[in-house]
Amino acid sequence: NTFAEIDLGEAVNLNIRRCKYVKPTPVQRYAIPISLAGRDLMACAQTGSGKTAAFCFPIISGIMRGSFPQRPRGVRTVFPLALILSPTRELSMQIHEEAKKFSYETGVRVVVAYGGAPINQQLRELERGVDILVATPGRLVDLLERAKVSLQMIRYLALDEADRMLDMGFEPQIRRIVEQMDMPPPGERQTMLFSATFPKEIQRLASDFLANYIFLAV
Ligand code: AMP
Repeated sequence: NTFAEIDLGEAVNLNIRRCKYVKPTPVQRYAIPISLAGRDLMACAQTGSGKTAAFCFPIISGIMRGSFPQRPRGVRTVFPLALILSPTRELSMQIHEEAKKFSYETGVRVVVAYGGAPINQQLRELERGVDILVATPGRLVDLLERAKVSLQMIRYLALDEADRMLDMGFEPQIRRIVEQMDMPPPGERQTMLFSATFPKEIQRLASDFLANYIFLAV
């Protein structure tokens, strides 16, 4: 029941201590080992449950340990390894801030892109390289249309507050985004879906995007 018992690696553990997290919250305690074991996950989690760390820790740890094909360089398109989709600019900024703390001195680079703000600064950040992209669906579709981002190398996908994204009408954008990930083949991509509620529409997203997933309600 401590973070040290979960095999996240020394660099992430050090950042957890820097954040002064002493023990995992319930969603972290169950979701992190499931994710480290490579399984897809659909988790019931409210704001304040510690869900951000629950999906960030295994992604950061996985990127640090994994070996990935060389990503094209010197082109205007960036190839993130992980995508975290969130409904709003505020939540995206919050996830970005947390993910930066969790990935401090790991070499894993996190960039955020959200709507309602000028795109140029975000483009400059992206062009410096990105491992984990935190984005709102509308802005990401824009970046995909401009060929600034490619999702062909995504190995980790996290959908945060999926019910809220659907309430806001983002389902078409989310489907367009996930459709672009079918290279590499399913099975090589690991997906985590977080939602406070589980209506039919969320269950349908889960059966469309997740493979052989574990359902977690804490
Ligand atoms: P979240 O549900 O991800 O928005 O997190 C809610 C708040 O709890 C944030 O301020 C986190 O920094 C904090 N938090 C997350 N995990 C832990 C933990 N294991 N111990 C203490 N605080 C935490």
